[in-house]
Amino acid sequence: MSDPTQSSDRRGPGDAPQRMEPPTTDVSAPFWAATREQRLELPWCTKCEEPIWCPREVCPGCLGTSIEWRPAAGTGTVYAVTVDHKPQNPGMAGWAPYAVALVDLDEGVRFLTNVVGCPPDDVVVGMPVEVTWEALPDGRQLPLFRPREVRAPDAAGARG
Ligand SMILES: [Zn+2]
Repeated sequence: MSDPTQSSDRRGPGDAPQRMEPPTTDVSAPFWAATREQRLELPWCTKCEEPIWCPREVCPGCLGTSIEWRPAAGTGTVYAVTVDHKPQNPGMAGWAPYAVALVDLDEGVRFLTNVVGCPPDDVVVGMPVEVTWEALPDGRQLPLFRPREVRAPDAAGARG
C-alpha cells in the first residue's frame, strides 16, 4: 500500500520561485488547518449527506448551514487535464510545463489541481491519482495529486 502522506517522490522545480499562496478565508480555514497535518478534509452537508466543494457557508443543495468537516480518502480520478507551458501567472513560470487537472475525488467532488510525480504529458483522463503535499512557506500544505497504482483485485495467484 502506498502511504498518501509520503511526498518524497514529488517532482519539484528545485530552485523555482515559490508558488503563489492560496488565500485563507473564514470558510476555508478548517480545510487549511487540516492540511498542516497533511489531512485532506471536505465539508459535508449533514442533511444531504453530500460533500461540498469549494467550501462555503451554505449547502448548495438544501441551503442549510449544517456543515461539518470530514476526512477524505485522498484518492480520485483525472476528469480533465491540460499541460500549461506558458503560465499567465509569472510566479508559476519556473514550474512549467505542468499538468493542470480536474480531479474527481472518490467522495464525489471535483478539485482543480496539479498532477505531479510524472511527466505532465503522461497525465491522461481517467488516470487514478492520490493526494500528495507541497509545503507552503506559512506551514500550510497544498494538496496536489500524483499517479496512483491500482492493483487488480485478482492480480496475485488468480491463474491456474
Ligand atoms: Zn444540504
